[in-house]
Amino acid sequence: MSQSLFADAMTRLDKALQHVSISPEAIERLRYPKASLSVSIPVRLDSGELKVFQGYRVRYDDTRGPTKGGIRYHPNVSLDEVQSLAFWMTFKCAAIGIPFGGAKGGIAVNPKALSRMELERLSRGYIDAIADFIGPDTDIPAPDVYTNATIMGWMMDQYSIISRRFSPAVVTGKPTAIGGSLGRETATAMGAYFVIRSLMTKHQKLPQVTTVAIQGFGNAGAVLAQLLYEAGYKVVAVSDSKGAIYNPQGLDIPSVRAYQQAHKGIEAVYCEESVCNLGDRQLLTNSELLTLDVDVLVPAALENQITLANAHEVKAKFIFEVANGPVNSAADLILQQNGVCVVPDILVNSGGVTVSYFEWLQNRSGLYWSLEDINQRLQEKMEAETSQIIDLAEELSLSLRTAAYVHALKRLAAAIEAKGTQQYFAQS
Ligand code: GLU
Repeated sequence: MSQSLFADAMTRLDKALQHVSISPEAIERLRYPKASLSVSIPVRLDSGELKVFQGYRVRYDDTRGPTKGGIRYHPNVSLDEVQSLAFWMTFKCAAIGIPFGGAKGGIAVNPKALSRMELERLSRGYIDAIADFIGPDTDIPAPDVYTNATIMGWMMDQYSIISRRFSPAVVTGKPTAIGGSLGRETATAMGAYFVIRSLMTKHQKLPQVTTVAIQGFGNAGAVLAQLLYEAGYKVVAVSDSKGAIYNPQGLDIPSVRAYQQAHKGIEAVYCEESVCNLGDRQLLTNSELLTLDVDVLVPAALENQITLANAHEVKAKFIFEVANGPVNSAADLILQQNGVCVVPDILVNSGGVTVSYFEWLQNRSGLYWSLEDINQRLQEKMEAETSQIIDLAEELSLSLRTAAYVHALKRLAAAIEAKGTQQYFAQS
């Protein structure tokens, strides 16, 4: 890669700044993370050996509220990546209009190589290392790539042990038995589904004639595949880290999911089988999936999947970014020239953090909502902000990405300016 992920993320900020008039001080503030923490986490493995893992937590901006964002477990986690993800969380929370700033965390680890008990020791060790940095009023972690409700439960418990009080609001995405919210596990996919449906309705595309390819069959990708399938869309291809399956007539998503569920490892919390082992479908690589001739492409895996190297080969008419950062800024330009409509991550995948906000509210009030209430409020939020971003894009002739950033920037700048800037004090 020629430039860092963070440098690439900054180009989106620069682009949006051309279309909004805000205080130069607000701009300067948004270029730097508020605080970045690197920690070493010593873990005793089942073999008796001690292994030290590298972990990070970045709080990017807390002007609009406590910082919020997930924790990922992946071998490629780095400070550059975590800073970029924390920057995106800042804009995501502002774009969807929830009162949080942005943060992110991660551990450089291949979690599939650890036993369940090693994973628990690692997760508790990470909280031991960052406990002073997080809290229900300061910074609230959540799940991300290769972390889940079980891991969030361990983290919340560890924080409660350290602080000597039951602290459910310190982490969201927990099991419901210890303060998790109904609907949190399906929230990212459901939020994305509402955005896809809004856009498809606007472009008068009926589900029955709309083909979809989804890269990534983790929580977000698999649940979204199910929701689209149930709504009548033709989901023709899905993939996981090992490869893709393709059937031009449409895949039977419930059977793909049943296969995945049946192959969860006994000791681990991850699925150990690949969708590729399902017979009678054509096998493709992940990069072949990205260039399929479909109406809708959904990258739901990792960042930097569509770049200068393959953007010109994309045949989809719409890309919905369910992953964070799957399309880089150089690819944006090519896709725009080729008439591909890219609907950005900070809108499409914001359903997850929106229901995290609902979970945090429930933990703080002690009053728990029904699944119906949660999904209803999620739908209202997703549809309202999507329609404002579409209107802004049309009004200013902007891409949906730049419109989403401008929409977020207005809220961020108003908050930064409300706390006082040089211009504000010069007037007194
Ligand atoms: N990791 C998710 C994201 O990237 C969720 C964050 C949260 O719920 O705080 O949006």
